[in-house]
Amino acid sequence: MLQTVVHYFLHFIFIGVIAYWYDRKNWKKGWLILLATMLVDVDHIVADPMFMADRCGIGFHPLHSEYVIPFYFLGAIFLRRSVLKLVAIGLAFHMITDSIDCFWMYAKCADCKLSAVFNSF
Ligand SMILES: [Zn+2]
Repeated sequence: MLQTVVHYFLHFIFIGVIAYWYDRKNWKKGWLILLATMLVDVDHIVADPMFMADRCGIGFHPLHSEYVIPFYFLGAIFLRRSVLKLVAIGLAFHMITDSIDCFWMYAKCADCKLSAVFNSF
């Protein structure tokens, strides 16, 4: 229960803090942009089954894979201040949020290997 609350708090509420930190004059617009980065979860559609409790999405879904995650962080760090940079920040934070969830699952699982929880990592 706490895990779910923390997960959705980070995904939907805390990003408002990030938007405020990024540009306090336009934080509401920034928040909406960060909310829009939740669309990265559209890659769950190609998953089979589409939803599975206790599955770590990091390393499993295409837009949550080790091939694209570095680009989110590189964009967040190196892009010029712009909407695209905010999108990259949102995507990078999304991956951090999902990773926290995976570590939390791992902590609850007595005989899991971390590599098994994070799929391909
Ligand atoms: Zn996700």
